Amino acid sequence: MKPIAELYPLIEQKRNTVIVFHQKPDADAMGSGLGLYQFLRQVGHSVTVISPTNWAVFLGWMPGCKDILDYETQGGKANTAINEAEWLFCLDFNTLSRTKNMESKLTSFTGTRILIDHHREPQEEMFAYGISDIHKSSTSEMVYDFIVESGHADKINTDCAECLYAGVMTDTGSFRFDSTSASVHRMIAALKEKGLEHGRIHENLFDNFLENRFRFFGNVLLNRMEIFYEYNTALIAIPQSDLIKYNVKTGDTEGLVNFPLSIQGIKLAAIIIDRGEERKSSFRSKGGFDVNTFARKYFNGGGHFNAAGGKNTEPLEVVIKKFKQALEENKHLLTN
Ligand code: 5GP
Ligand code: MN
Repeated sequence: MKPIAELYPLIEQKRNTVIVFHQKPDADAMGSGLGLYQFLRQVGHSVTVISPTNWAVFLGWMPGCKDILDYETQGGKANTAINEAEWLFCLDFNTLSRTKNMESKLTSFTGTRILIDHHREPQEEMFAYGISDIHKSSTSEMVYDFIVESGHADKINTDCAECLYAGVMTDTGSFRFDSTSASVHRMIAALKEKGLEHGRIHENLFDNFLENRFRFFGNVLLNRMEIFYEYNTALIAIPQSDLIKYNVKTGDTEGLVNFPLSIQGIKLAAIIIDRGEERKSSFRSKGGFDVNTFARKYFNGGGHFNAAGGKNTEPLEVVIKKFKQALEENKHLLTN
């Protein structure tokens, strides 16, 4: 993988370009993808943004969102765009397997694959150019750097700024996590100078849910959360029947895993959701417990030091048992 800076002199040559991010995209995946889309279009590229799956309703306000192709329902159009593309930007994931059903199509792509990402252990051999930096707050911050460092800061319009802001703000926990560097604040200052109205974005992302989501949260916190004080850990395990009963949609469970971290003494919070086709898990930690390693070792996943996820094919009860065994094996790391 050559340094991304080697791509800068080539940016102004107009190309057929595809942008893709990870499945079930969060605001950073969508924000970085659409921010880059807004930029490359202004340069004159012909750009198609493809999402491997659908996304949460609360991301639908993002400028350019209506142009995104959902690979699961618009695979034909998406494959045509990939066949015609010379450049393929891969954003906010480290391995092509994070694009679910797109993996084989992206693996056999014969053009130039470009990586911009902040997850650990990137599949570097798959990319011609790229940047992978775990110290960056978000992929959206990295796309901002990409635009500015390549000499195109003037092309960040308010549409682009809104997308990038959404990604940085959510991936930093509203500018709370340690990853919120001085350069993150400088970036936001620059976006404000371009006319960004940040309050509206918080409202779009956080004040836009339906009543059922909060009834579901109430049920989960009352009936599905277990605290293991001896391991400084909380586990939320959600059966598929709850998802059906409360009409839970993509994105509705986002943020739920963070709640138990507000309980005094809790260093590890986990959520395991029975999604039918698989058991999807998320892990969040405070301080020195590495959930990336934990998710890799026991849950076929990965992510960051303090935020990671995974998936299992076994039934929910088996995955819960596995989690409890993993707690015992990691007791020394959770209680020191
Ligand atoms: P979340 O828990 O919000 O789904 O994800 C937290 C972090 O872990 C994200 O950075 C995400 O990319 C990563 N992650 C989530 N699920 C998986 C997974 O199944 N495999 C890998 N490698 N990373 C994951
Ligand atoms: Mn991210």
